Amino acid sequence: MLLRALSRLWTEHRLPASPGLRWAAAGLRLLSSGAKGLCEQTLVAVKPDGVQRRLVGEIIQRFERRGFQLVGLKLVQAPQDILSAHYHDLAEKPFYPALIEYMSSGPIVAMVWEGHDVVKVSRTMVGATSPGEALPGTIRGDLCVHISRNAVHASDSVEVAKKEIGLWFRHSELVQWECCAAGSTYNI
Ligand code: UDP
Ligand code: MG
Repeated sequence: MLLRALSRLWTEHRLPASPGLRWAAAGLRLLSSGAKGLCEQTLVAVKPDGVQRRLVGEIIQRFERRGFQLVGLKLVQAPQDILSAHYHDLAEKPFYPALIEYMSSGPIVAMVWEGHDVVKVSRTMVGATSPGEALPGTIRGDLCVHISRNAVHASDSVEVAKKEIGLWFRHSELVQWECCAAGSTYNI
């Protein structure tokens, strides 16, 4: 509470914006949200089929409307070394070569989303790996028909999310910012 109040004081009253003070304010925000468990992060990616089908806006909107905060975003042609590290646990699967070809077939929109339980909630929002089993209301259940083109990726655990975020983003590419809707999203 105190940390949050101090951080707000800095932001709302626009106290002198020296680099030192900005770092201090960012630190206070981080401590404040961390103490409340609100700064869990996950990697979400719109895969090449999702980009080609112009689903980027729809997928971003679902995460925004749910109440999560966007802290990283980029359009990339995925490098082979990142893809093989990202899917290293599937390297022995028969579908692996086709998966890498698919993921290399066009640009991907890689994102980092932040918020309470974001890893678990994102997986629920994305739905089952096979769209035929994904429930209506999920991204795959609403927008996809086949496992080979399932439009979106989301990290499957907090530990994996940390690794995947580190793989796709440099620390300097993630933006810590104060969302003005935070007080309407959480009781903080
Ligand atoms: N995949 C596939 N065929 C399969 C299983 C998986 O093409 O039989 C692809 C699909 O794109 C899936 C990705 O491999 O999203 C990673 O598989 P995983 O089991 O990790 O599913 P996810 O975590 O994406 O739901
Ligand atoms: Mg997976």
